Amino acid sequence: MPRKKLMAANWKMYKHPAQTREFFHHFLPLVAHHTRDEIVVCPPYIDLHAAVEAAKGSNVAIGAQDVYWKEDGAYTGEISPGMLLAAGCSHVIIGHSERRQFFGETDDTVNLKLKAALEAGLAPIVCVGEVLEEREAGLTEDVLRRQCLRAFHAISGKKAAALVVAYEPVWAIGTGKTATPQMAAEAHQLIRGEVAKSLGQDLADELRILYGGSVKPENARALMAEEEIDGALVGGASLDPKSFAAIVKY
Ligand code: PEP
Repeated sequence: MPRKKLMAANWKMYKHPAQTREFFHHFLPLVAHHTRDEIVVCPPYIDLHAAVEAAKGSNVAIGAQDVYWKEDGAYTGEISPGMLLAAGCSHVIIGHSERRQFFGETDDTVNLKLKAALEAGLAPIVCVGEVLEEREAGLTEDVLRRQCLRAFHAISGKKAAALVVAYEPVWAIGTGKTATPQMAAEAHQLIRGEVAKSLGQDLADELRILYGGSVKPENARALMAEEEIDGALVGGASLDPKSFAAIVKY
């Protein structure tokens, strides 16, 4: 059975609630009859309400861009898995490279967040990927192995059915540079192998591994043609409804 692809939008820190409503007003009719792939939009927290309302009854699910691992408490500024569920989210991005780069996210906090998200019943999209210096130094495989090993530490494969992984080479994010489909496929194979070791072969066989890094309408089809690529995590090109719809429908 081929894996159903997941096309996910990461809006990063863009759009206000009114712009979110505007996006869905244009986007939903463009993908209204699209059942081939799953579609998820991950706006900033402040837009979740508007997005959930706008997407109600449609084929578009809503996710957040981060989550904390505690359910409640004195953690100013944080949002718990239960809060995301209550807001109508079904997905959450964890360990995005911008969180790792600018906000002190580590492999260990990714692991804590992943456990909490799975426990709550959210579908986590865990991001892994190497920076340019690591690729140039031939360290890509080591980095991906370490990130996977630590992210999936002490997680039971039985509880991880909803897991999604995104391979995002950091040098390709927001730079206009894209990994070739072959480069991405090689990384995806390695990630799948690591997931098999940590979470079991059955889960690894079913796991969707998305590619992220300057995906655009022009390159989506070639990337999605790779058997190992099970969808896309799209940043910049997901902000425009026509462009994201063209990627979804590649
Ligand atoms: C991302 O934010 O996850 C991403 C892949 O961004 P972009 O598509 O802009 O490179």
